Amino acid sequence: MSPVIESEEHKALRAAVSALGNRYGRAYFTRTVDEGVPAAELWADAGKLGYLGVNLPEEYGGGGGGIAELSIVLEELGAAGCPLLLLVVSPAICGTVIARFGTEEQKRAWLPGLADGTRTMAFGITEPDAGSNAHRITTTARRDPDTGDWLLTGRKVFVSCVDIADATLIVGRTETVSAEEGRTGRLKPVLFIVPRDTEGFQRRRIDMELSAAEKQFELTLDDVRLPADALVGGGTSHAFGSGGEDAGLLQLFAGLNPERIMTAAFAIGMGRYALAKAVEYARERTVWKAPIGAHQAIAHPLAQAHIELELARLMMQKAAHLYDAGDDVGAGEAANMAKYAAAEACVKAVDQAVHTLGGNGLTREFGLASLVTAARVSRIAPVSREMILNYVSHQTLGLPKSY
Ligand SMILES: Cc1cc2nc3c(=O)[nH]c(=O)nc-3n(C[C@H](O)[C@H](O)[C@H](O)COP(=O)(O)OP(=O)(O)OC[C@H]3O[C@@H](n4cnc5c(N)ncnc54)[C@H](O)[C@@H]3O)c2cc1C
Repeated sequence: MSPVIESEEHKALRAAVSALGNRYGRAYFTRTVDEGVPAAELWADAGKLGYLGVNLPEEYGGGGGGIAELSIVLEELGAAGCPLLLLVVSPAICGTVIARFGTEEQKRAWLPGLADGTRTMAFGITEPDAGSNAHRITTTARRDPDTGDWLLTGRKVFVSCVDIADATLIVGRTETVSAEEGRTGRLKPVLFIVPRDTEGFQRRRIDMELSAAEKQFELTLDDVRLPADALVGGGTSHAFGSGGEDAGLLQLFAGLNPERIMTAAFAIGMGRYALAKAVEYARERTVWKAPIGAHQAIAHPLAQAHIELELARLMMQKAAHLYDAGDDVGAGEAANMAKYAAAEACVKAVDQAVHTLGGNGLTREFGLASLVTAARVSRIAPVSREMILNYVSHQTLGLPKSY
């Protein structure tokens, strides 16, 4: 399969998801945002049609495809004005991590529900004092010697959808491993599935200036007691296998590549939606002799936005192709570049779309101004523009580090 020329299957998936997204449309999505409720009807329909779990293994109820297919689903829903952030987290990150590293019991318990959308899982790695530097996370798991249970303590911030997800996949470390990290300075991550209503697992909503149905939370874990099998991969601290010192970290990032690719899809879909609205407006709106779209000062930035979104999609397809082919290292660079390119293209497309509509760009009726902040999310999360530039500076170009 070529990552450059889209296959007939992918075109058909694109068309089918686009039809579903347009059946609901922006008006539906805006209503859910205004009411502060998730887009549950669209989510359920997408689940029934097999779109939510298109990347998960068939034997656990998924579609047997990969991130290439799931990114098409998110991009097309976004282009129809219905971006579902939970797709980035639940099937893409959590589904992938469990499918690749979970025990047989964890796969059976979670994957069918994540695949048809009847169950969802949030993902928490960001911490108040770690932020972009995940090596500094301090959420710690220790073992109760009497029962074998895990006791998880720490804080997380900006974690999306914790209120609606059945559980949150929490990234932490174990005490024994962190002693070793004192020497190596490297995080050896462990991941725990924490059900929403577990005692000691508290959430506080963060008041975001974002027009989105999905909410962000600060989490406090205060000796949260979890059974041994809450640890992804089983009851040892080598949750990600024991292939050397960096294996855990490498495999966490293998799990995070889908997040970057899906954030690219989120951004490209949103950028396409905004651009389409602007083009439609620029074709009609006439204040001199010709529609404003005839003025090159309006037309060229829109053409540029289209080109940049297309280029970003090409890199996203390359990243998805490498990831689905099992090349985690190659996919890492491409996924970072795709996320960078898509976020920049989205921010520019939304900005130009708002400008194209003049005063109407700022009205609620046209609904574009709220995308200005939404577009910025893809520039900050899950990894900021600067951290991607750092990655490319150090990993790709071999430049020295300042930090
Ligand atoms: C809407 C939204 C949803 C989110 N959902 C989730 C979620 O579900 N789960 C989750 O775990 N997290 C989530 N996040 C958190 C997100 O991943 C973080 O905000 C992001 O990783 C940046 O961390 P920070 O906010 O602590 O910024 P900081 O790390 O404090 O960075 C602040 C600024 O400094 C820059 N900076 C930092 N270090 C360097 C450096 N070495 N060189 C140059 N510049 C640097 C950054 O680029 C950034 O511009 C979400 C965030 C948002 C906004």
